[in-house]
Amino acid sequence: MVDSFLSIGTTRRSKALLYCSDNSVLNYNRSMTYVKNASGTSRWSKPSTGESSWLEYWEKQTGKKATRCGATDCHSTGELVGGHVQKVFGGNEIYITPLCKGCNNRTDNFWVDTELVRVPSGL
Ligand SMILES: [Zn+2]
Repeated sequence: MVDSFLSIGTTRRSKALLYCSDNSVLNYNRSMTYVKNASGTSRWSKPSTGESSWLEYWEKQTGKKATRCGATDCHSTGELVGGHVQKVFGGNEIYITPLCKGCNNRTDNFWVDTELVRVPSGL
């Protein structure tokens, strides 16, 4: 019950923010998620599931190759990491998504258009 209430609230809030943003955002066909960097995640240097990096974990889970930073206002193709993020209007779940090193350290909230992959349970 609480979960479904939260997810409805997240969707509505996200849409409202979408309309407040730059008009070009409205033409975006891809699904975007409003996220923030999860704090205190530096101790998880790599997954417990055997991959050598969080970026590799994301690629294995999605079947995609990470080619650019997921932040829609960045999209850098520089050095990428698997960033730990949380949904701004979601719960406390932590997700992995490709970010450049700069975006992996930002403290504001930002949109990503890349897939979010839940970290393995136990982390
Ligand atoms: Zn970036």
